[in-house]
Amino acid sequence: MQLNYCPVCGEKLSLRPHPTEPPTLWCSRCSDWRFPLFSAAVSVILLDKSGDRMLLIRQYGEPDPVLVAGYVDKGETAEAAVVREIREELGMTALSPRFLGSHYYAPSETLMLNFLAVAAEDEARPNAEVDGWEWVPVKEARSLVKPGGLAELLLADWDGA
Ligand SMILES: [Zn+2]
Repeated sequence: MQLNYCPVCGEKLSLRPHPTEPPTLWCSRCSDWRFPLFSAAVSVILLDKSGDRMLLIRQYGEPDPVLVAGYVDKGETAEAAVVREIREELGMTALSPRFLGSHYYAPSETLMLNFLAVAAEDEARPNAEVDGWEWVPVKEARSLVKPGGLAELLLADWDGA
């Protein structure tokens, strides 16, 4: 988000020439630069152990299936967030998370870090945030998600989909 006031001391910020960056917000009380704030989240292309099936979920009453995603907690690594989100939302164990790529999602000012992981189990035990889940053949996943949506963009990070 665009900062108007210093998040440390509350002083009004002003743009100043920066030695190595474009003009940057400066707090005159802290005598320090203040950079834009944004969130980080992970998304997960979750495969079964055979690698032939991918898990898609439905959430928040939306009709189109999506990938599991969630915000990274403060102080947490992205890899740990993958394991935690799969545990929390699906009750499953995510093995060997591997980073695929990143996307900046402007509507929520979020840097989305996209991972591939393998589920240790076949059966999900989803929490209340998940309306439904299903294993789909990897080769069909792209045809099932919303055209032009975030899931389609995320699937394009992986050449197996
Ligand atoms: Zn300040």
